[in-house]
Amino acid sequence: MKKKDNKDYISYTRDNCRLCLSKEVEMAVNMGKSPISEKYVDKENLKKIIPKVSLDLYFCKNCYHVQLLDVVNPDFLWADFTFKTSRDDKLIKHFEDYVDRVFKVQKINKQDLIVDVGSNDGTLLQCFKNKGFNNILGVDPASEIVDQANLSGIRTIKGYFNLDLAKKINNSNGKAKIITANNVFAHIDDLRGILEAIKFMMNDDSIFVFEVSYLLDVVKKMLIGTIFHEHLSYHSVTSLKIFLNSFGLDLIRIERGPEQGGSIICYAKIKKSSDTIDKTVIELLELEKKEKLDSIETIKEMNSKLINLKTELNQIIKKIKDEKKSISGFGAARSGTTFLSFFDIGKYIDHLYDDNNEKHYKYSPGDQIEVLPTKLINQNQPEYLIILAWIHADKIIQKNQNYLQNGGAFLRFFPKVEIITK
Ligand SMILES: [Zn+2]
Repeated sequence: MKKKDNKDYISYTRDNCRLCLSKEVEMAVNMGKSPISEKYVDKENLKKIIPKVSLDLYFCKNCYHVQLLDVVNPDFLWADFTFKTSRDDKLIKHFEDYVDRVFKVQKINKQDLIVDVGSNDGTLLQCFKNKGFNNILGVDPASEIVDQANLSGIRTIKGYFNLDLAKKINNSNGKAKIITANNVFAHIDDLRGILEAIKFMMNDDSIFVFEVSYLLDVVKKMLIGTIFHEHLSYHSVTSLKIFLNSFGLDLIRIERGPEQGGSIICYAKIKKSSDTIDKTVIELLELEKKEKLDSIETIKEMNSKLINLKTELNQIIKKIKDEKKSISGFGAARSGTTFLSFFDIGKYIDHLYDDNNEKHYKYSPGDQIEVLPTKLINQNQPEYLIILAWIHADKIIQKNQNYLQNGGAFLRFFPKVEIITK
């Protein structure tokens, strides 16, 4: 492992698997370097260079885990992280449903401790609280968001969850009955450290529930929008089972869901001979075997599909520019930067339009494209709008019928390349 010589480093490159520490890791998808994607800057800071870091995907030949080996310094990556879960209605609905699912699997008393790792502004814990469970505790490193959580009555500790912090929490709160971690398990470099800490917070009656985007969906549906610097791991049940077992935990149940294009909710307990393993675990292990997720060749197929997609998209955009038509982007989310960089199309894009007012009149990392409020779309009427917020494409098209009626056209590239007019 390359030394992280000082705390101000931007990124470092691992030389081993994040889950099993094997050095038998081989590159499977060549994504190249991309600007660190959440760093939208003000006009005054345009001269500041946003570093580019590799997004190549590696495959571990020992435990089959798919992962980035280039890790951006989390202090740099998350310091001014602005996404708040409470801003997303769909996510709130998902969390309400999630809490009901957890209660179906885990018996719990009102005074039992519930810990959420990577708790953001406390949206998930609020759902537990709404059901009458008040012994809740969140942990998250994003300072501004933690302050907000505490202000809204969700007890939250600022920091990275590790064994030291787990010991402190345990000293004053005891063991947790439920530990959750949603879309954070894929974001942590030191997964062995966090799992050790999670296990420390558990006893025989505890359950650890976590949700991650699912590698099988990433591969099958070509979810390249899920590949960005924050997203270090692309989990399969096969590699997760090996990982959890090596810490004395067992996967007892898994549910597939639609989040992020395809996710799995995993339930784990401390391994005991009396536990029954639900058939959902066995079925997914068999499915992954059938789909050859344990072969690097399966992951490498994404590479050739990506090159084809890039060629097709560039031909279309070149034709649009040859006809002297204008093109802007819809969506200034993290994946947008990855797309512009990977497809190498940022130079053709006049503006980015986004609903998030914290990004308005800032400039995208890398191509330095100005972000404008979506209400200006009808005023500016770009001739083409490429949908970078890939996961919301249907909703965006539906909500912007005016733009189409006025002669605009959407260009989408997921699930396939398509031009949509009125
Ligand atoms: Zn491994």
